[in-house]
Amino acid sequence: MKELVLPDQMAQRVHDLYTRMEAEYDRVASELHFGCEGCPDNCCDSHFQHHTYLEWAYLWKGLRELPVEKFEQVEQWAAAHVRECSRAESRGERPQVMCPLNEEGLCILYKHRMLVCRTHGVPASMQRPDGQVLRFPGCFRCQELVEKRGESEEDVPQVERTPLLRELVMMEDEFLSRRRHLYPKVKLTIAEMIIKGPPMVPLSFCERGCDDENCG
Ligand code: SF4
Ligand code: SF4
Repeated sequence: MKELVLPDQMAQRVHDLYTRMEAEYDRVASELHFGCEGCPDNCCDSHFQHHTYLEWAYLWKGLRELPVEKFEQVEQWAAAHVRECSRAESRGERPQVMCPLNEEGLCILYKHRMLVCRTHGVPASMQRPDGQVLRFPGCFRCQELVEKRGESEEDVPQVERTPLLRELVMMEDEFLSRRRHLYPKVKLTIAEMIIKGPPMVPLSFCERGCDDENCG
């Protein structure tokens, strides 16, 4: 199978989008006087799955920049993470296992961390394609702050995720050569993305008569 290589120009656009997400997060956090300092929790043990080939490829771009020994260590942590999650799931529990990219409380791939890592914490809203508005209240500490302000959920400072997510989906479509609908859905944790290796063009594309002359 052939790797889905992320061109530099598209990696730069992912970086720009992530930067704008961060700026929005910082704006809301600042308006709420909210920060993670002194928190007894560490959200990097939350169980999240990620859904785009684009973010998967961007994560791998970062992994390839790690020194070899660090990368091998991360692979081992990722394998242990997958085993521990599957043990928790077999007990019918939601896994709560520290992300394999978190070392002593810090993200070792901070520049390449995922969208979820950049938006979790502060209140946010998002409009679904059917028009329904979803609201996310933020983490437990942020909810305490918001409660004290006594504002309605519409008035509270929040990140409007819709335009940012739309842009991500459009870039994903472009990355997948406008054939997003033909690709298997991605639903992977960071650990699983590490263990699986970088994203690949599905084999079934060749069986269907792939029109990419560079397909190898
Ligand atoms: S996002 Fe909230 S719960 Fe998570 S570390 Fe920050 S303050 Fe703590
Ligand atoms: S990628 Fe980084 S910020 Fe995101 S969960 Fe893992 S360690 Fe935390």
